[in-house]
Amino acid sequence: MNVYDGWRIAAMLDARGLAATDKISDADIIILNTCAVREKATNKVFSELGRVRDEKKSDALFGIVGCVAREVGAGAFRRIPELNFVLGPQSYHRLPDILDNPDARLLNIDLGGLEKFDELPQMTSSPVVSYIPIQEGCNHCCTYCIVPYTRGRELSRSFDDVMRDTIAAAKTGAVEICFLGQNVNGYKYTDENGREFRLSDLIRETAKIPEIKRIRFTSSYPTEMTDDLIQMFSIEPKLLPFLNMPIQSGAPDVLKRMNRPYSLDGYMDIINKLRLARPDIQISSDFIVGFPGESDSDFEQTLEIANRVRYINSYSFKYSPRPRTAAAIMPNQIPENIKKERLAILDARLGEIQREFNEGCVGRTMPCLYEGPDKTGKYMIFRTPYMQQCIVKDSPRADYKILNIKITAANKASLRGEISQD
Ligand code: SAH
Repeated sequence: MNVYDGWRIAAMLDARGLAATDKISDADIIILNTCAVREKATNKVFSELGRVRDEKKSDALFGIVGCVAREVGAGAFRRIPELNFVLGPQSYHRLPDILDNPDARLLNIDLGGLEKFDELPQMTSSPVVSYIPIQEGCNHCCTYCIVPYTRGRELSRSFDDVMRDTIAAAKTGAVEICFLGQNVNGYKYTDENGREFRLSDLIRETAKIPEIKRIRFTSSYPTEMTDDLIQMFSIEPKLLPFLNMPIQSGAPDVLKRMNRPYSLDGYMDIINKLRLARPDIQISSDFIVGFPGESDSDFEQTLEIANRVRYINSYSFKYSPRPRTAAAIMPNQIPENIKKERLAILDARLGEIQREFNEGCVGRTMPCLYEGPDKTGKYMIFRTPYMQQCIVKDSPRADYKILNIKITAANKASLRGEISQD
């Protein structure tokens, strides 16, 4: 979502005749787009702000947008008096105001609107993998999570707005569409005639666009994986056989305290239904270790669920207490050294499973999306249907395409392959 927000901000600056520079000392405007999900990210923002302040031109406009801006509000001006603007994740479309009136300070951390999606200029060219936000905010209130406070309650964009953006992306270069939302599978929009649209409707409609070859969505909440959506995996071949469906923990007691009210059986039932719909589907997850009160045996259960589901690619984090969240004041907070130890054990286990899956792909031929040349410009980078990176040692070609790639080697992080001649 932050990457997407960054694109829209860049498109707006571009439309105003500004061009990008790599050098802070050359910039006329510097914007830090920020994440508040874990404390470390928030702390980084302030050290980065200090660095930018020291390097920038004295008259350069300088500010923060996104969730940290929303969280610290006017306090940001007290900590860094040189800041010109502080704009929350739902008000960065107010950036033109500061360009028009550079001497005034601008603070807007309001929530509750989706105007930003429509008020900023559209991008004139789209990346081969284009993100399309369909929903913002979250109503789930997991006890560790700051997102409901920073991005607010769930709001779904209209079906027509989403489809307009999707078609525009397809016409300007997108081959893959990734629908975005903090609770993306909770997407629900009712039009003026009372017709309700769900994520499955967006997928069905998007699949009809000839330029679009692949569709995916993130992030999903397990119990919002409704049957209409699961069915899409069986009837819509453009929907990739890959789903990020975070479980967070494998211990029922911890899940309860996280306010994630699903049982392990319920979660496994959803996975089984998904596998019935698309036998080759693979799942990834997010995990939090060291949640308050997590015992050794709770942690063991997280390792067990990882072994059972065989997630092919996951993100795991040490629990980080966040302001205003219920878990931050729960008893039995876990010491840092134990969190660190558990994270290392979980990461090692997840890494082994990922490597085994990747190695199992050797010899297979898969339709892969060409994303562009690698950093050296010598090789091509492809993305498999399971979102693995696959490097092909062949000179890059200019056109973006789906090609059949034969996988020839694998390690934990990526695959090697060659263009299939069959
Ligand atoms: N559903 C959201 C989740 C965003 S946060 C979305 O994708 O937009 C991404 C992941 O960060 C979560 O799934 C969770 O595993 C982790 N996370 C969230 N809050 C956290 C916290 N307080 N400490 C550690 N990890 C956290």
